[in-house]
Amino acid sequence: MAFPITRLRRLRRTAELRNMVCETRLTPDAFVYPMFVCPGEGVRKEVRSMPGVFNLSVDEAVKEAREVHSLGVLSVILFGLPDKKDEVATGAWADSGIVQQATRAIKREVPGLVLMGDVCLCEYMSHGHCGIVKAAPTPQSLGAAALDTRTAAAVRDGAEKEKAIDKLAGSLARASQAYEIVNDASLELLARTSVSLAKAGMDIIAPSDMMDGRVAAIRRALDEAGFINTPILSYAAKFASGFYGPFREAADSAPQFGDRRSYQMDGANVREAMREIEADIEEGADMIMVKPAMPYLDVIAAARNRFDLPLAAYQVSGEYAMIEAAARNGWIERERVMMESLLSIRRAGASVILTYYAKDAAKLLS
Ligand SMILES: [Zn+2]
Repeated sequence: MAFPITRLRRLRRTAELRNMVCETRLTPDAFVYPMFVCPGEGVRKEVRSMPGVFNLSVDEAVKEAREVHSLGVLSVILFGLPDKKDEVATGAWADSGIVQQATRAIKREVPGLVLMGDVCLCEYMSHGHCGIVKAAPTPQSLGAAALDTRTAAAVRDGAEKEKAIDKLAGSLARASQAYEIVNDASLELLARTSVSLAKAGMDIIAPSDMMDGRVAAIRRALDEAGFINTPILSYAAKFASGFYGPFREAADSAPQFGDRRSYQMDGANVREAMREIEADIEEGADMIMVKPAMPYLDVIAAARNRFDLPLAAYQVSGEYAMIEAAARNGWIERERVMMESLLSIRRAGASVILTYYAKDAAKLLS
């Protein structure tokens, strides 16, 4: 039936009708609230690029967790800022680690809250990478540097020559910093971190490092330690993204050199994302995640169509910061855009949404 028999506006006429035919609904129990735990007492330090988000000492984290839970949000995910960093990420797997401390305290005070532990090494490594770093045997860009030397010599004058020299200096710097993020050795530390968190009372282990084989390594270690009932939520398709910028300030986890493109995914690849997810499911993941969310809604939708596991999506720091910045300038309506962004992620197919808006959205929904 076409117009004038069909008039789609008939069902949009009133709020009641629109509500009746609404296809996608948000509920607070779908949200997971990320929290950044730091050393000290009474610390509540706002993250500059994420207004409304704080670094919290354990005592403050407990208060925050209580508030989150009272709003109907069922879960928080914990990130840690250790007082010391080193080359083996001791702060990640030590039983006295900052997240282990926070886990024990929150479990004691707010037992009904589901605690997720982000498992990665970058926040605890002095170099800020997500795995063990080793100098690469042959500097891979030396050839490129040699090629550039010839280019620079061939260019004779002016701005062109300056540009060529700049380029040469850049590739020489890269060549002297040749390194590799070692996959298999990193697995051992990730597994050790997971067991330590489970011992502290963590309900769900969420590896975010993007090393190959980490889910299998973590599952094996958890089972051997007796944690057969601790589920793994795998950051299965995590893209190397510019939207993580503000998080790196929040978690003090920016790499000191290079970038994360040799382990996180290329934003161009959706088929590879399906392979990543499939691999993690085969290794024993109980839930899967796509990160970031809004720039990758198609990946969420593809994952939803293809896999039957509970699917999570992470609305990352940059997504949050963009909305906050525009709202502060009066360019958008904050609450409206916040809810629309969450709705889009839910509509794409995510059943669980990790979001800095968990508290504010829950308040609006109640
Ligand atoms: Zn990391």
